[in-house]
This record gives sequence, structure tokens and C-alpha cells, in this order.
Amino acid sequence: MSIFSRFLPKRKPVEIKNNIPKEKANIKKTFGVYCHSHHDTKGDKLCPKCTALLATVLTKMSRCPYGITKPICDRCDRAAECLGAKQSQEFMAIMNGSQKRMFLSHPMMTIKHKLASMGVDYAKFQQAKKIDDKVKAKAEAAKKRAKERKEKK
Ligand SMILES: [Zn+2]
Repeated sequence: MSIFSRFLPKRKPVEIKNNIPKEKANIKKTFGVYCHSHHDTKGDKLCPKCTALLATVLTKMSRCPYGITKPICDRCDRAAECLGAKQSQEFMAIMNGSQKRMFLSHPMMTIKHKLASMGVDYAKFQQAKKIDDKVKAKAEAAKKRAKERKEKK
């Protein structure tokens, strides 16, 4: 150890970002925007129905089996399993139905959320493509083998 070693850049550990606090804040805001305009509430108050749904979503989110690597809830395939069919539908309706209003009152937050959902969509697309490529490669290999067999005869 030299005296200079402390000036050398430390190797950074691989960091997994915990986006859950941000997503929770976004969902809370979206619920507020939605409830204020649809159920005539004001300030921090939400109507009982929205309050209950929000509480469920936030609790389920903390128990998400994906942990902090989870996709955002309104893009998650497991949302219906997690929240139940009815509540997940209501949740999606609120999240999708308030996008325009959210953008007007919280533009940066909405853009970040949009980027996050595009990220999830992209990851899903890449995953599907990978599987597709594997299937194609297998079919291709099978064809090749069949051809080789024929040529041997
Ligand atoms: Zn409401």
C-alpha cells in the first residue's frame, strides 16, 4: 500500500438501482390526479375507494417477488396475479387514464415513468426475440441435419 493508493479511483460495486420509492411516488401522484378529477377530491385527500386501492398497490409492491429489479407495476405481466383481476384493471385504468393530466401537472415525473415503461417494453421485446431466434436456430439445425442425412444415403 502506498500513500498514493487512496487517490486511485475505487472500483465501484455493481449497483442495482432501487426504483421502488420513485415508482411509489409516481403512483401516489397519479392516483391524486385521477381521483381529484374523477371523484371530486382535493389536496392530499383521496376518496375511500382510491385510498383502498392505492394502499393495496403500495403494499403489494413492497412484497413484489421480483424485488427491486421489478418492472414497473403498470407494465408487469404479473399485475393481475398480484392485485387480483378487478383491482389490477382499476389500477391500469387509473395509470393509463391519467397520463395526459399527469403530464400537465408533473411533466418530468411523467417522462421518467414513460421511459421506464418503454424500458420494460424493450426488455420484453428483446426476450421474445431471443426465444424466437432460438426456435429459428433449432429449426434451421434440424433442417440441416435432415439434409445431411439425405446426402449420406
Ligand atoms: Zn377516487
